[in-house]
Amino acid sequence: MKNITILGSTGSIGTNALEVIRNKSSEFNVAAMSAHYNHKLLIEQIEEFKPSYVSIGTQNGYEEIVKKYPDLEVYLGNEGLKKLGTLDEADIVLTAVSGAVGIEATIEAIKKEKRIALANKETMVAAGDLINNMLKKYKAEIIPVDSEHSAIYQSLLGGKKDEVNKIIITASGGTFRGKTLEELKDVRVEDALKHPNWSMGKKITIDSSTLCNKGLEVIEAHQLFNVPYDDIEVLVHPQSIIHSMVEFNDMSVIAQLGVPDMKVPIQYAFTYPDRVSNKVLESLDFKTLSSLTFDEVDNEVFKGVEYAYLAGRTGQSMPAVYNAANEIAVDQFINGNIKFLEIYKVIKNTMDNHELHPVNTLEAVIKADSWARKEAARIIKTYVK
Ligand code: NDP
Ligand code: MG
Repeated sequence: MKNITILGSTGSIGTNALEVIRNKSSEFNVAAMSAHYNHKLLIEQIEEFKPSYVSIGTQNGYEEIVKKYPDLEVYLGNEGLKKLGTLDEADIVLTAVSGAVGIEATIEAIKKEKRIALANKETMVAAGDLINNMLKKYKAEIIPVDSEHSAIYQSLLGGKKDEVNKIIITASGGTFRGKTLEELKDVRVEDALKHPNWSMGKKITIDSSTLCNKGLEVIEAHQLFNVPYDDIEVLVHPQSIIHSMVEFNDMSVIAQLGVPDMKVPIQYAFTYPDRVSNKVLESLDFKTLSSLTFDEVDNEVFKGVEYAYLAGRTGQSMPAVYNAANEIAVDQFINGNIKFLEIYKVIKNTMDNHELHPVNTLEAVIKADSWARKEAARIIKTYVK
């Protein structure tokens, strides 16, 4: 039996993970779970999965849960989330909160030498240098959940590290694939939230439409697999069937394919190196696939990938700044305060104004992250009439 802590159990990844667990209850048990605002859903999940610990982001949610479950260990806010990373009872910590808030809990789980099933890409982007240093010291392991990185992880098993020629990350191209700058000028939040292939949380769906999600994934891949940026390529593949590929020195390409369903990489991160059957996992029916197509990223229109390469190659605090500026810009786009294409301007202007520093400590990561949030907010104020 594997005991699993789910940080962000009420989100898209969190609920998919619970479905995986629900259908394999003889192998998985929920040790702990957390939500931010959604205490109603968290309560339903407590009823069903009976965790020993929970953490919630709001005071009223906290009070309601404490009153309802006097025997349950309940924690509050960021400290609570962090605490869930440290529990002795958990074998695996699934980091499925959205945004840089996942960093500290992940760090705690590394110190406790857990397996970390990492969905939260912002963690590796903002704190990759720090986390990689920690992984040299602690016997923790990170198994990626992000579908592209799970695909790369699986494909890499087909050769040795020094035999890798390049990594090819596939991108669906997002909701606005094929659109021109003119057509994107006045797009609405509702339009950006309609993803063609994947059903995901709001922030990552907007990130897919700007291609900042792919940008974050390029940096995440660099940090997870220690592959230089020159050897990471992004390819638009609208059907989202090939989740990513690795080309080796002998020009063999190994790819991982499957239906676009996050339950596959979530379960793989729980069971690696084993593969186990689970009735929630669907078979890919090749006969119904009419074609698999590939195209270059339109960097003239979608700047998310280009700015990520720039941030990644600059290194040090710049990826954290890219990430934080993007988080603020997406939030303000969702709230109707900036236009779609202004997301890119916010990211670029924030990066341009940044004074680079190393990020080998948590304090340094937080410093870069907080600076970029403030700077992005300041820049946005100059756009709002
Ligand atoms: P969602 O927005 O659906 O869910 C986010 C989860 O995190 C919710 O449980 C939410 O709680 C919780 N949360 C949000 N903010 C905070 C906070 N400040 N403190 C504590 N908890 C918080 O996101 P997704 O599930 O889509 O994505 C989660 C992560 O996984 C992201 O980093 C994303 O990039 C990554 N990812 C997601 C994929 C997907 O298919 N969805 C694919 C690959 C990666 P509440 O519900 O109470 O607000
Ligand atoms: Mg992905």
